[in-house]
Amino acid sequence: MNPSPPPATVALTFDDGPHPDSTPALLAILAAGGRPATFFLRGDQAERHPGLVREIHRAGFGIGNHSFSHPHLTGLRPAGIAAEIERTQRTLSRLTGTRPTLFRPPYGESDPVVRAAAAAAGLTEVLWTVDTRDWAGADPAGIAGAVAAARPGDVVLLHDSGRRNTVDALPLVLAALARRGLSPGPLAPGRPAPGHPAPSHPAPSHPAAGTPAAGT
Ligand SMILES: [Zn+2]
Repeated sequence: MNPSPPPATVALTFDDGPHPDSTPALLAILAAGGRPATFFLRGDQAERHPGLVREIHRAGFGIGNHSFSHPHLTGLRPAGIAAEIERTQRTLSRLTGTRPTLFRPPYGESDPVVRAAAAAAGLTEVLWTVDTRDWAGADPAGIAGAVAAARPGDVVLLHDSGRRNTVDALPLVLAALARRGLSPGPLAPGRPAPGHPAPSHPAPSHPAAGTPAAGT
């Protein structure tokens, strides 16, 4: 008997949480279908809403490090970068009993110094290959439309920052994937290649000042 090939999957990732206005709703939608996802949490938000962090962990979703205060890390000195990463590792480890192994830099902004700091903390950097632009206010149809072109192995950028558009889009996103024969799968480190930003990622042209607070 031949084993069936693994189902074609894409990884759904949610940045900037936890947030009381979006985390419970996102968890409910994902858990209803037993769909995996990874939440890249801010340390400061985790300290404000520790119960939500425990809820994400208890429900079996992946938790990654998204810095403590969401700064532009490439503009910080090495000690400042390390502090942002380590403080978040301590917070998330204390709340979940598990030390995160995945790291996503705010705005997708990284360089060798940031990657070295992440590696020193035992973290692998993970960016994305599909940007839904929910952070820029895309409506649910637009968010689902961005995902409708996903291919197996893609990593989809979404947000858990209290915005309604992402919550409303999630059922449409799942339907769009299903239409293409794809299902959400776990995030495998190294997919996409660490430090290889997606062509669509918005970071390089973002000026430090005026970047929307709800960015990536
Ligand atoms: Zn972010």
